[in-house]
Amino acid sequence: MVDKDKQQAELRAFGLYFPQYDWEQGVLREIKKDLEKIKKITNLEEKYQKAKFFWDKHNTNEIYAKNHYISGELGKLGISFNDTIAKYRQLIRELWDLQIETIRELEKQKKSTKPSTKNQSKPKRYKPKPQQENWTCQECFSEIKTGEEYWYHTTKHDNKKFCSEECFSDHYSQTCSNCFKKTLEYYPDKQYPSLVYCWDCQQEREYICWGCAKTKEGDYYAEKDSSKYCSKECYARMCGELCNYCANNVLEFYHDEENRNIIICVDCKKKGEDKKFDFDGKKHVKDIVEAMKKAMKEKSEKEQNNNKDSADDQAIERERERERANLNTIRLMTSLSLIILN
Ligand SMILES: [Zn+2]
Ligand SMILES: [Zn+2]
Ligand SMILES: [Zn+2]
Ligand SMILES: [Zn+2]
Repeated sequence: MVDKDKQQAELRAFGLYFPQYDWEQGVLREIKKDLEKIKKITNLEEKYQKAKFFWDKHNTNEIYAKNHYISGELGKLGISFNDTIAKYRQLIRELWDLQIETIRELEKQKKSTKPSTKNQSKPKRYKPKPQQENWTCQECFSEIKTGEEYWYHTTKHDNKKFCSEECFSDHYSQTCSNCFKKTLEYYPDKQYPSLVYCWDCQQEREYICWGCAKTKEGDYYAEKDSSKYCSKECYARMCGELCNYCANNVLEFYHDEENRNIIICVDCKKKGEDKKFDFDGKKHVKDIVEAMKKAMKEKSEKEQNNNKDSADDQAIERERERERANLNTIRLMTSLSLIILN
């Protein structure tokens, strides 16, 4: 049974997310607004980045709001879980689906467009009027007589002339580093420009990373359910677990020996972060919470510049930030195990 003062404090904090006068205001109104905003964006990469940003933001909000609800036993005050947290959760889920949907669209778009052609060699036939002198084909060394047609490169300006399209192709085409086919239309490797690929192989090499929605080529970090990820970070973001000590999405982790719902990453384990976790030694618990808050803050600040909220939204965000800073540290740890239970 929670005491009255504590319950009132939780109720006030909960009100920052779901206001007492109308639960529909606060985060529910915000997320609906954000969803509308994102759906209007036509640039798919931008759409993905925004969806990701707002998802992170609302996901964090939900963690805190739920913590207040449970700690304050607000259900006993007649606050409906279904009309607040559960409703919010559903909209957050919609934000997540929007990210997945956008990546699918990006992939579809990529399939229907050609990659940028940089080194394409366009042969051009040049019909000279009075040809001044006899020329030798730069490839087969046969003579191009005065007045005859010849082939030359329109963009290289190398002053080379060829007797036929075949000689032109032989001279300028490159061998695909993957299938060894000779081709005039080739695409240099972004990392190793001396390697080139034909159109088909280049299509094979290009992929859209499911973690950052960027078009990448060549090597990828991992593939899961036929989705590719460009880096460890991108893979961990979509397929990893949240470390409860540093708030990072991680791939290598342990379960706490006493409570399997608590997850600790390999790095934090090495540093002995879990050993500091001690309900009696509050100083240490506070350190962990500080580290986690800092990590979460850094994450959102990084993207804040591209995603400016309105002044009103910023003010309420700051208030929530303050409220989070005052959180009883043990309660935060309790909430962490609750997140994972769900
Ligand atoms: Zn020739
Ligand atoms: Zn090829
Ligand atoms: Zn990526
Ligand atoms: Zn960690």
